Amino acid sequence: NLSERLERIASNVPPNVKVADIGSDHAYLPIYLVQKGIATSAVAGEVNDGPFKGADRHVRENGLADFISVRKGDGLAVLQPGEVDVITIAGMGGYNIREILEAGKEKLVGVTRLVLSPQGDSDRVRIWLQNHGWKLIDEDILTEDERIYEILVAERGEMNITDPMQLEFGPFNLERKHPRVIDRVDYEQGKIRRALASIEKAPTENGLARKEELLARRAQLEEVR
Ligand code: SAM
Repeated sequence: NLSERLERIASNVPPNVKVADIGSDHAYLPIYLVQKGIATSAVAGEVNDGPFKGADRHVRENGLADFISVRKGDGLAVLQPGEVDVITIAGMGGYNIREILEAGKEKLVGVTRLVLSPQGDSDRVRIWLQNHGWKLIDEDILTEDERIYEILVAERGEMNITDPMQLEFGPFNLERKHPRVIDRVDYEQGKIRRALASIEKAPTENGLARKEELLARRAQLEEVR
């Protein structure tokens, strides 16, 4: 049984595709995608030995070794250009996801969809997508074990987001006023409240300049609520 998070990621993979799941760990996602007949074949990539061995064992235990190729390597280095249609990368920070995409740019030939699930710093991923000929076609956001997970679904195309709030919280999430996104906004406002309080307590020159920034950000956040 897949977690709700992985299930929602899977629901953004279109049928009859070849998929690569990078940072696959246990390989739950590619196993599920092949078992459900969503993916015709899959690559499970892992950079670390433990998870790589776990993925390999898990795939063989499920009798799927003919359909899922488990490979050890960094990011997209495990792929040949043109080998897959869809790439999923989930359960790591936004900076790491961006690094994997940037380092593996030439492996994205023929890839028509990216399903990315950053844990934090999703703005880094949105900015990278926008600057490299990808556009968001949908987003999702959920909490699992008290952590916030986002799902960014992108296809080839142009996107022109300039609003920093949209980059930070996601244009689809904001448009829907998704309750989890409002939670994130509340959380950021809480951080500002505490920072302002500590500046009030011990004012310094730096603190006063910082206060201006914090007030400006608070106003921006207030607008998206
Ligand atoms: N994708 C699974 C999920 O969402 O449930 C597993 C997430 S797990 C927290 C992150 C995995 O990514 C770890 O197994 C780690 O070894 C792997 N990883 C991190 N950086 C990687 C990279 N550059 N290339 C391949 N795998 C990577």
